[in-house]
Amino acid sequence: MTELIWFRNDLRLGDNPALTAACAGNAAVEACFLPAPGQWAEHDWSPNRTDLLLRSLDQLGRDLAALGIPLHIRPIDRFTDTDAELLALCRERGITRIHANEEYAFNERNRDHRLTRALNHQGIAFHIYRDQTVVPVDQLKTGNGTPYTVFTPYSRQWWRWVESHPPRLHPAPAARGAPLPPPTLPELTAWRSEQVDWLAGGEAAAHRALEGFIDQRLGAYADQRNYPAIPATSQISPYLALGVLSPRQCLVAVQQRTGAESPASAAHTWLNEIAWRDFYIQLLYQFPRLSRHQAFKPETEALPWEPAGANLEAWKAGHTGIPLVDAAMRQLHATGWMHNRLRMVAAMFLTKNLFVDWRLGEQYFMQQLVDGYLPSNNGGWQWSASTGTDAAPYFRIFNPVTQSERFDPEGTFIRHWVPEIAHLQGKKLFNPNGTVAGYPAPIVDLKQSRQRAIERFKALGKG
Ligand code: FAD
Repeated sequence: MTELIWFRNDLRLGDNPALTAACAGNAAVEACFLPAPGQWAEHDWSPNRTDLLLRSLDQLGRDLAALGIPLHIRPIDRFTDTDAELLALCRERGITRIHANEEYAFNERNRDHRLTRALNHQGIAFHIYRDQTVVPVDQLKTGNGTPYTVFTPYSRQWWRWVESHPPRLHPAPAARGAPLPPPTLPELTAWRSEQVDWLAGGEAAAHRALEGFIDQRLGAYADQRNYPAIPATSQISPYLALGVLSPRQCLVAVQQRTGAESPASAAHTWLNEIAWRDFYIQLLYQFPRLSRHQAFKPETEALPWEPAGANLEAWKAGHTGIPLVDAAMRQLHATGWMHNRLRMVAAMFLTKNLFVDWRLGEQYFMQQLVDGYLPSNNGGWQWSASTGTDAAPYFRIFNPVTQSERFDPEGTFIRHWVPEIAHLQGKKLFNPNGTVAGYPAPIVDLKQSRQRAIERFKALGKG
């Protein structure tokens, strides 16, 4: 009898419930990963994300091999090919039980339901474990027994749950046999991206990033996290998105490295962001329409979006004539990552000032981001577009010029990414307004476009 651990969105040995279960007995353990480039393309996964995935997979294969666990990497084109490939692997290797961590998007859940039937039919057991969140996705309910759709009461319950259930990590497995040669990665070199060379792949690198953040920057996080010129945030989102790190490991690391009695007392502001992540994952789980990119507020489907065209292209290219938006979009191109405040500024500019459908921005972010992650990306876009639950009220529209004065007061971030206007001094830098040769005039009037957005939202439901 052989147990199989099927890695999906959990490329790690530490705190991996499915791996712990697979290794619980004395049976032989093998591992597999089924890369699905066709599916990745359909989900708009960026080469940045795929590059980090493959480098992390390479490291995972080496780590498993050192423990005597072989990793079978079997490329398929799409999800629909999963059943046949898994069944073939089970037949070849005499596998009778498969363990995997749950995935929460609609297609993935459907795939797992279908697979459970197909595998059971062949006498193969399929066990699924809760993962990806600190608090299990269906744990917290309102007094009426419905899922939370507003963050503040959700986070109150989240913290209560965390305080009464301190996370216990699943230890990485011990060696199960003599070391093996590491597996060879399939030829997927088209996914190579030089934009993310700043990020090392694999679990050890992810822990170094997490621990370095806690030791050096956590203390100032609450004060500095909104300033994009300061490297004040953790930048661990790419590792969390691929499951190279678990969010539970973040809580435990904070507590251990700060010596705090509870994680909350050490790092409430930072861990509240992990709670936001859990909140968006449970929304995706509870409301399947979010996986289909439908608005959480159905009435907003009637908004008369502007044709995307040249404005969308200018936004993508970082040539809108609004320096903070352009700096943000150029950071995204160059590094595959964007600061959280700028994601909100760039998304609001696209959806409110240019009045372009949020789904086009959501898709473009997914095509670029190294940390592209459906629950958080969808949540962030629907928040910014005021189509989501507990979103920014439609009349509270960030002014990107004011945002730059507040959060990039010295202009350091803008000067770095928009060198053509770096010589400007004072307020001129935040809004050159077409006065610099080689830098565009604003593609939209901020005041008028803000008013247009408010009127269109107000008109919803009146016609
Ligand atoms: P830190 O500030 O160090 O926060 C720690 C962790 O908490 C992050 O790594 C992340 O996992 C989580 N987190 C932080 N802020 C949020 C948030 N607002 N919502 C959910 N989780 C959060 N995050 C993604 O991981 N993937 C995405 O595709 C994504 N798309 C976004 C799109 C838009 C329009 C917006 C407004 C936000 C998006 N975010 C996304 C959330 C947030 O911007 C990033 O998680 C954060 O910038 C990552 O940087 P960090 O690791 O330094 O975060």
